[in-house]
Amino acid sequence: MKNHYDLIVAGGGFAGVGAAVAAARRGISVLLVEKNGYLSGSAAMSYVNPFMSQFKISKADGGERNIPVNAGIFEEIRQELKAFGGLHENERTFNMEILKIIMDRLTKNAGVDIVFHAYISDCVTEDERIKSITLSCRGKKYEVSADCFVDATGDANLAYMAGCSYRLGRESDNLCQPMTLCFRLGEVDTDVFWSQIKNVQAIWKEKLEKGELLNPRENILVFNLIEKGVIHLNTTRVIKKNPVDILGLSEAEMLAREQMLEFLNFARENIPGCENAQLIASAPEIGVRESRMIDGEYTVRVEEFFECVQFEDSIARGAYPVDIHSPDGTGTTIMKIPAGKYYTIPYRSLIPKSLKNMLVAGRCISTTHEAQSAYRIMPICCCIGEGAGIAISLAVKNQLDDVRKVDIAQVHSIMDSCNALY
Ligand SMILES: Cc1cc2nc3c(=O)[nH]c(=O)nc-3n(C[C@H](O)[C@H](O)[C@H](O)COP(=O)(O)OP(=O)(O)OC[C@H]3O[C@@H](n4cnc5c(N)ncnc54)[C@H](O)[C@@H]3O)c2cc1C
Repeated sequence: MKNHYDLIVAGGGFAGVGAAVAAARRGISVLLVEKNGYLSGSAAMSYVNPFMSQFKISKADGGERNIPVNAGIFEEIRQELKAFGGLHENERTFNMEILKIIMDRLTKNAGVDIVFHAYISDCVTEDERIKSITLSCRGKKYEVSADCFVDATGDANLAYMAGCSYRLGRESDNLCQPMTLCFRLGEVDTDVFWSQIKNVQAIWKEKLEKGELLNPRENILVFNLIEKGVIHLNTTRVIKKNPVDILGLSEAEMLAREQMLEFLNFARENIPGCENAQLIASAPEIGVRESRMIDGEYTVRVEEFFECVQFEDSIARGAYPVDIHSPDGTGTTIMKIPAGKYYTIPYRSLIPKSLKNMLVAGRCISTTHEAQSAYRIMPICCCIGEGAGIAISLAVKNQLDDVRKVDIAQVHSIMDSCNALY
């Protein structure tokens, strides 16, 4: 690790990896800082799986079914997963251990310096610029400076430390989407399980209505994995806890584990194929769908997604629907965008109002609660990161004193050359 970089990327999830790789490939020096011992972010630390669709929603005639809206580095990762046998034949479920290795290689091959177990605990800000950050590792502190920064921490942690203003959750009461501890059950007869699960949903619903469940989720959300005899559950739901508060998070972890145990017992008693099921793993960290969203130069509203507004300064596309898991109880609201169309993410929504040398990428850019529920998926976060990395590389190379001055036409021209869609 050097003392100074052109760019420091905070956080090694899909957004951070997209940003770091895109920037390093344009020849600037990049440090990627990650508090865990691996890259992939929520996909590995919170066991988030599968990739939600990166394709346009099909028209009634099916004509648009396979037209991607998310490509570039995300598609490279997907193809690598496929080549290693780490992608399920459904093209969406992946093996997270293979993903970690692919992310290591991708960043190293691009020339990114990576530090793991490095928690960003502070920063120095002067004249609307972040000058340096403090990394903490096993009690030791390191000071590293950079010309520019990308905050891809998911929670806008660096932006928060730099004093940027932000919003939390929905406008009416600041409640965020629920947190979920993903977990896996083994020793499941999956053939029997998948043939019966639809019928079992009714039993779950009945128990929920009778008030017999701790978990307020309306149904069982479950995915198959590549591994035989294992199912992946996205079913716990912790509501009304603040995901950026130490007590909120602590209570959420314990409550989610109780819900996991509740599910195990439910499964053994009610789901054919699960009579001998065993808990094999829960994610190291509870999954956070939504937390801080910065106040940016532009705040994207959900109406603009439904209208499929094509922003002139678009740096990524999306077609995933609005998908709001109830912040205060049962229910999930899904609202699809028009078939065959896509929305765009404007560059301005990555620029925090009060900083000149930082962009935010991933699930914490400047949008409303409703819009965030759509673009937050891994394929789109990766593309937002890639757009941020390209923009920062131009800011550095052209010695711009403000990320607002980046020439979007130049960003688009680079994106065209690497199959990144905007
Ligand atoms: C329960 C759940 C289910 C979901 N389901 C799906 C799904 O099925 N499909 C889909 O595509 N998406 C899904 N999502 C959404 C998706 O997983 C996330 O929105 C997306 O991964 C966010 O990517 P990111 O790079 O912005 O942030 P993250 O993946 O959260 O990465 C942020 C990284 O920053 C690091 N970090 C944070 N703070 C610091 C610090 N101070 N110092 C150093 N490092 C730091 C973290 O360790 C992490 O690695 C789900 C999310 C959740 C929580």
